Amino acid sequence: MQIARNKIEQLRDYIEKPQRVVILSHTNPDGDAIGSSLAWAEVLKRHGHDVSCVLPNKFPYYLDFMPGCGDMVIYKSDSEGRAADAVRHADLIFCLDFHTMSRLDGLGDLIEENQHAKRILIDHHLNPMEDFDLMISYPEASSTCYLVALLVEAMFGVESISKEMAINIFVGMMTDTGNFAFSSVTPDVFRMVSVLAAKGISIPDIHNYVYNSFTEGRARLFGYVINRKMKIFHNGMVSHMSLTADEMRRFWFQQGDSEGFVNYPLQIKKMKVSAMFTEHTDFIRVSLRSRGDIDVNVFAQRYFNGGGHKNAAGGKSFMTMPETIKHFEKSIKEYAKEGLL
Ligand code: 5GP
Ligand code: MN
Repeated sequence: MQIARNKIEQLRDYIEKPQRVVILSHTNPDGDAIGSSLAWAEVLKRHGHDVSCVLPNKFPYYLDFMPGCGDMVIYKSDSEGRAADAVRHADLIFCLDFHTMSRLDGLGDLIEENQHAKRILIDHHLNPMEDFDLMISYPEASSTCYLVALLVEAMFGVESISKEMAINIFVGMMTDTGNFAFSSVTPDVFRMVSVLAAKGISIPDIHNYVYNSFTEGRARLFGYVINRKMKIFHNGMVSHMSLTADEMRRFWFQQGDSEGFVNYPLQIKKMKVSAMFTEHTDFIRVSLRSRGDIDVNVFAQRYFNGGGHKNAAGGKSFMTMPETIKHFEKSIKEYAKEGLL
């Protein structure tokens, strides 16, 4: 894939002179959200912009190693009003790795208050909202980090990629492709990995930080969920798992601990769809994964007020856990009846 020339030129115009910039990413930020924000922030800072990265809530502890992540402002725990200040005074607002303001939770209202800033989207989710001054939206891109790398390459050349930037970009490219295994991976993704590898990053170290840095509680919670909570139905092709707040407390749950659980049932040969329900204070978070042609993006939109990608999507449920599970099972039946499963 290639980013359209006119988009790159428009972006160049927007960032030509130094301004106040806010870079935003989504709730429950992942490696791609953090990596793309930090890499893009580094580029803009180098060109004289006053940049703040703002996130609705904290990223998981195993991403603490990412260069520069300590400077990100976490809206949820921001008692000094730094997030509000940055958003209010921003001339440019970049939205990275999300496609609808609903993924910003309360932070979305703050953005609405600033009507003078130009809004620029850099993202790879399906069906993005339309009200941006510039939309760099490529659902075929395997990660937002890859898009950022392509933009940096087109505008400033790969020589401008620092080692820190390479680490941040690599994390997002690695995590959003399931370690370079999803169908979104193209030869050009590996070309970009080769560019990043040449910057002296340690791929084994990054891999260990991201995938082998969990707590004992998470390991035990994982065993519990797979053993006790995984229900398989629809002729062995669909599974769901759930975690209540009480269960999370029992395993000393920390944010991010259940990340990736939803992928495991798909290791079963026949499995086509996997769902995970996690209880939060006001809603139940729904995570969906599928294999091949089965589209969980449409499923999430239709049944769980959500969206995402064809094979990885999510949403929210405002019912109780038992009702959510029932709704899921019923929705699967309906989806299958329509021939979509
Ligand atoms: P995860 O299961 O990892 O939380 O999310 C998988 C994908 O679904 C992500 O790419 C994410 O953008 C999308 N997604 C997750 N939750 C929501 C949601 O509440 N609304 C929408 N529109 N998309 C979501
Ligand atoms: Mn992403």
